[in-house]
Amino acid sequence: MAVTEPAPAPQAAYEGILRRQALRESAARTYARSLPIVPVRARGMTVEGADGRRYLDCLSGAGTLALGHNHPVVLEAIRKVIDSGAPLHVLDLATPVKDAFTTELFATLPGRLADDARIQFCGPAGTDAVEAALTLVRAATGRSGLLAFTGAYHGMTAGALAASGAAPDVRVTRLPFPQDYRCPFGTGGERGAGIAARWTEHLLDDPKGGVSAPAGMIVEPVQGEGGVNPAPDGWLRRMREITRERSIPLIADEVQTGVGRTGAFWAVEHSGVEPDVMVLSKAIGGSLPLAVIVYRSELDVWPPGAHAGTFRGNQLAMAAGRATLAYVRENRLAERAATLGARMLAGLRALRADHPRIGDVRGRGLMLGIELVDPEAAPPTAVAGNGSAPPPDPALAAAVQQECLHRGLIVEIGGRDSAVVRLLPPLTLTDEQATAVVDRLADALSAAERSARRRAPSGPTA
Ligand code: PMP
Repeated sequence: MAVTEPAPAPQAAYEGILRRQALRESAARTYARSLPIVPVRARGMTVEGADGRRYLDCLSGAGTLALGHNHPVVLEAIRKVIDSGAPLHVLDLATPVKDAFTTELFATLPGRLADDARIQFCGPAGTDAVEAALTLVRAATGRSGLLAFTGAYHGMTAGALAASGAAPDVRVTRLPFPQDYRCPFGTGGERGAGIAARWTEHLLDDPKGGVSAPAGMIVEPVQGEGGVNPAPDGWLRRMREITRERSIPLIADEVQTGVGRTGAFWAVEHSGVEPDVMVLSKAIGGSLPLAVIVYRSELDVWPPGAHAGTFRGNQLAMAAGRATLAYVRENRLAERAATLGARMLAGLRALRADHPRIGDVRGRGLMLGIELVDPEAAPPTAVAGNGSAPPPDPALAAAVQQECLHRGLIVEIGGRDSAVVRLLPPLTLTDEQATAVVDRLADALSAAERSARRRAPSGPTA
C-alpha cells in the first residue's frame, strides 16, 4: 500500500502550537527556545517540521539517537513487544525482554566487567543512574565524599536526594579536568594534563587538603555539556592508578559517550581504563528512556531498596535498547564513528583558515565541538587561560545556531560559556550528510560573522 505524504500543517496551526507552548510551558524550557520547530516526522538524521521543512539533526535527542530517528530495527523491536502482549510496566521483575537486554549489554562491557558485572536498573534518566552510582559507592566504602571535575555535568537531581529523609551529606572535592585550549595552568597538552593529575594526587594525600574521605571519583571520558573536552588517555589512566592505589571506586559517566559515540563502544576503551562503575543512559534505550549502572560485583553490598524507583522496568526501552546495542556492535558503528568523526574534525579545522572566530575545534568520534571566540575583545583578566585564547563569544554561537537552523541544520550549543557549537549526529549518517553538515555550518558561520561585524561599531570592515 502506498504511503501518502501528509500535507504540511497550515502555517496558523504550527504557529499556534509554538505560541501556546511559549504561553503554557515553563520559563526553564531550553531547546524549545533556540529551536522553534514543531517536529512531526523523522527518519534517520532527518527531522521534518510541521511547516514541511526538513532538517539534518545533529542534536539527536541530546546524543540519545545512536541510530537516528525511527531506525527500522528499533521500530521492529518495539512492535514485537507490543504485539506479544507482554506487560509494559513491571517494576524490577524479571522478563525475557530484560534478560535479552542484559545479556546484550554485558557482552559489550570492557575488560573484566564483561564477566563479572552486576546491573542496577534505575529510574529512566541519566541523573537517576548517577544518584544510584553514588549511593552504591557510599554503601561499599562507608565514606561519603565525592571527587568530581571542573566543567563536569552529571544531571539535575541532587536536590531530590538532599530533600529526602536520611540523605547523606555529600561533600564534593572539585578537581581540575585537563583542557588544552583554556588550560588553567597555562600550558595545555601533556604538560597541562600532567599538572592536573599531580594536583589531584597531591590534594588527596595532603592531610590538610580539606578533602572529605572520598567514596568515589566520577568522570566523563569526554565532557559533553562542559564543552566537548576529551580526557587525554594518559591522564585517565593516571586517574585510574590514583584511585586504585587509594581504594577509591572510579565511576565512568558514559551517559553521553557510550554506544559507539566517541569511536569506541565505550569511551573508556580508548585509554584501556576499566572503571569500577559505569553510568549508562541515553543511547542504551534506543531512543526511549532507560538508565542503568553496571559495576564490579564486589561493590554489590548495598541492601535491598538502597536505590529504588517506580519506572525501572520499561520493556519497550529495553527492547529498543537491545536492538540498538546489537546493531551498533554488528555493524561496527563505533569504527564508522571514528572514521567519519576524524573526517568531520579535519573539515571543521580547515574552516579556521577563513574564520578567525573559530577558536578551537575538538572532539572524539561523532562528539564534536567548535568553540567560538571574539579575537577583538580584551581577554578577561580574572580568568586564567593559556595566554593566547581569546574570550568566548556566546552571542556568535547563538547566531550560528540560528543560521544553521535557517539552512536546515539542527545543532546544540554547550560549553561553560555557551560558546561551543556541538555536533552529535547519529552514528548512521552517510558521507554525504557529513559533508552537508560541514558545508551548512561553514555557510552559517559566514552569515553569523557578517551580522556580528554589522553590529560591532568598531569592527573590521573587510
Ligand atoms: N551525565 C552526562 C554525561 C550527561 O551528558 C547527562 C545529560 N546530558 C546526564 C548525566 C544526565 O542525564 P539526564 O538528562 O537523562 O538526567
